[in-house]
Amino acid sequence: MAKEKNPSPSSATSQPKSPPRSHRRRSVKRRAKPPPPLFHRQTAMDSNGIGETQSDIRREIASLEKAKAEINDRISALQARLDYSLKEGSKETNLCPLRPTETPFNGQLSADMIYRYSRHLLLPSFGVEAQGNLLKSSVLVIGAGGLGSPALLYLAACGIGRVGIVDNDVVELNNLHRQIIHTEAYIGRSKVESAAAACRAINSSIQLVEHKEAFRTSNALEIMSKYDIVVDATDNAPSRYMISDSCVVLGKPLISGAALGLEGQLTVYNYNGGPCYRCLFPTPPPTTACQRCADSGVLGVVPGIIGCLQALEAIKVAGAVGEPLSGRMLLLDALSARIRVVKIRGRSLQCEACGENATMTAQQFRDFDYEKFTQSPLTTSPLKLQLLPSEARITSREYKEINVKGEAHVLVDVRPAHHYKITSLPNSLNIPFSSLDGRLSEISEALEREELIKSGDASRAASLYVICRRGNDSQRAVDYLHKVGFTTAKDIIGGLESWAHDVDPKFPTY
Ligand SMILES: [Zn+2]
Repeated sequence: MAKEKNPSPSSATSQPKSPPRSHRRRSVKRRAKPPPPLFHRQTAMDSNGIGETQSDIRREIASLEKAKAEINDRISALQARLDYSLKEGSKETNLCPLRPTETPFNGQLSADMIYRYSRHLLLPSFGVEAQGNLLKSSVLVIGAGGLGSPALLYLAACGIGRVGIVDNDVVELNNLHRQIIHTEAYIGRSKVESAAAACRAINSSIQLVEHKEAFRTSNALEIMSKYDIVVDATDNAPSRYMISDSCVVLGKPLISGAALGLEGQLTVYNYNGGPCYRCLFPTPPPTTACQRCADSGVLGVVPGIIGCLQALEAIKVAGAVGEPLSGRMLLLDALSARIRVVKIRGRSLQCEACGENATMTAQQFRDFDYEKFTQSPLTTSPLKLQLLPSEARITSREYKEINVKGEAHVLVDVRPAHHYKITSLPNSLNIPFSSLDGRLSEISEALEREELIKSGDASRAASLYVICRRGNDSQRAVDYLHKVGFTTAKDIIGGLESWAHDVDPKFPTY
């Protein structure tokens, strides 16, 4: 799923079978990429006449703003504690009882707890017993992204006694539209650190455990064994299988959510005799069916809704109330405002993880190769395809030189049209990869025009270059173009991202 879609031009019209929605995960990880520059590099002279660039000044302002935001956050948290303490008439020496409890919840709600959770206690169907269950429980949230953000905030706020957060990624500007637990002040810093700070600011009376590492077969069982309930807030097929299998091995209920584009889904696996993920999807989907938010997009509020629902299901399981969503799946269609709950297949006797002859032991789990099984990488860095020989490729810097020299050439941009609308290089011709085979004549015509304009002689061939977002589809396109007669076509290595990185820092990235 960390792959660009891979339609071959010849089969571009045949859509892949609709994948199980559970495989279509939104992305957590993206390439660590700095935000686009917000200013020009013009030299300014300050009042002292010392040469100082506007960039320097703006950088310092940004740094100070970041520090200011962090200090403000801290002041707000301290003020809230102080206000609360004054209201309760506590002595100054008692300002710290809201620190993480060193003594676990002993079954009795303290006065602080009764006050904090009073609205829960007033619910006849929830009450002291369910709140006590929450305080005694522990939940592991894997992924502090779009799903994990709201899930973590509610789990911390509602008084889950111990909340663990697993992620090895950093906060990025282009994720803040959906990863609402993070703030601009944390850009470039650990998501786990950021999420834990936000949770502590809401509820400093619970324990928060930071797992700043990738969730892998080597550490999964050790981490997960310390928690009662698992929330899968990841975004890729191998993680789905790995998390589900480790829940089966350890007998933990799994709250599974997914969101992509304008759709979301939710279910509870491995709970009360219900199915596990493998029961429903014994074989992984084709990799072409897997998408990620970084490629396909996601409306920020959609994972927000699903993440809230994941928190709700975790609270129901932890509180031992209601009817958790086991054996059923909730489907959200945001555009038409429809939510459906469908019955899903029960536990499969043939399931390789939880069936009658299941072989999944702790050792087998540790040895299982989830990337090989799903043909998808666990790492979320974008795929770097290496399809073409080096003579069929040029760097973005080399392409810039071609432009500077005014060499006769045509640049074909093979991204989808809605990507092309976001940003594009001047004088490029947009022919999406999926429609390339039907539009070859446009390339021939463009080459002829270019030859006439630049040299006045159509016998001198213009060069053909192909670009896309990251340099994967452009290679596939060049490979195809070579086969249909455009034998000199070359792709621009790394696509528009490398153009932005190596040639024009002001060029937008997305
Ligand atoms: Zn199963």
